[in-house]
Amino acid sequence: MKAFTYERAQSPADAAAAAQRVPGARFIAGGTNLLDLMKLEIETPAHLIDVNGLALDTIEATDDGGLKIGALVRNTDLAADARIRRDYGLLSRALLAGASGQLRNRATTAGNLLQRTRCPYFYDTNQPCNKRLPGSGCAAIGGFSRQHAIVGTSEACIATHPSDMAVALRALDAVVQTIRPDGTPRSIPIADFHRLPGNTPQIETVLAAGELITAVTLPKPVGGTQIYRKVRDRASYAFALVSVGAIIQPDGSGRVALGGVAPKPWRVEAAEASLPRGAKVFTDALLAGARTTAQNAFKRLLVDRTIAAVLAEAEDKA
Ligand code: SF4
Repeated sequence: MKAFTYERAQSPADAAAAAQRVPGARFIAGGTNLLDLMKLEIETPAHLIDVNGLALDTIEATDDGGLKIGALVRNTDLAADARIRRDYGLLSRALLAGASGQLRNRATTAGNLLQRTRCPYFYDTNQPCNKRLPGSGCAAIGGFSRQHAIVGTSEACIATHPSDMAVALRALDAVVQTIRPDGTPRSIPIADFHRLPGNTPQIETVLAAGELITAVTLPKPVGGTQIYRKVRDRASYAFALVSVGAIIQPDGSGRVALGGVAPKPWRVEAAEASLPRGAKVFTDALLAGARTTAQNAFKRLLVDRTIAAVLAEAEDKA
């Protein structure tokens, strides 16, 4: 691991200002992804700004009937919160489908959104990877790509975003709250938060240098039957091949976001008008423009069948 300097931030505004002041600085909270990346020298921050002491670890009601989730709320605490379980069951189930109990005890809401891909070539410094070393190439294209994305990809990168939580937040229309280095706040709809790779796969979010996530807000509850179904190679502690986060209303309308198939949580609002017409029609609209490899072409059918199972479960529960 490369040497780095360290400080504890005193306030969110201080943290954001410090991150802009020191070139190569990174925030650290749970560290469940960043520390691994530092040990492998995939990330080599010159300076770490510890934000664990900031008062961003509460879940509060908002004036419009929603919830404000502090950036430092641990995944375990968020999944167990009575209001989340009652009104945003999709989020609680997605969180519990992710990682392991020990990791969820450490991992934070903001860190979960910012976690990096688990593409094996990204972690293997002997392999070319445009995300790790821009311009070096992509070992996954033409390589082992069974886990990789089928929509939203580019010629530069076909990695998936690994978060389960983010899939639920996308279906729930969450908003990411930040503070910028000049002290001004910003609200970013979750739909706009993660970027597609294009020619710059190393830039994964719309956050500016030094911009700190302070909270995630949820709109007031929308009801419906909320389901998170994750298909993976083993029953726990594995990333999704395909996951489906769904909120289905009694009339068959609803919202559906996918994990495991794209560089960001994948939702196409325009496709949702076709949901009452069944899984096949909806999947065709949701995955329009998909580009598969010989190894991950199975994901298209897996999406279709997982959505069909979710719609059937929703009908049973309703
Ligand atoms: Fe790197 Fe993306 Fe290619 Fe994986 S898919 S090797 S992360 S450029």
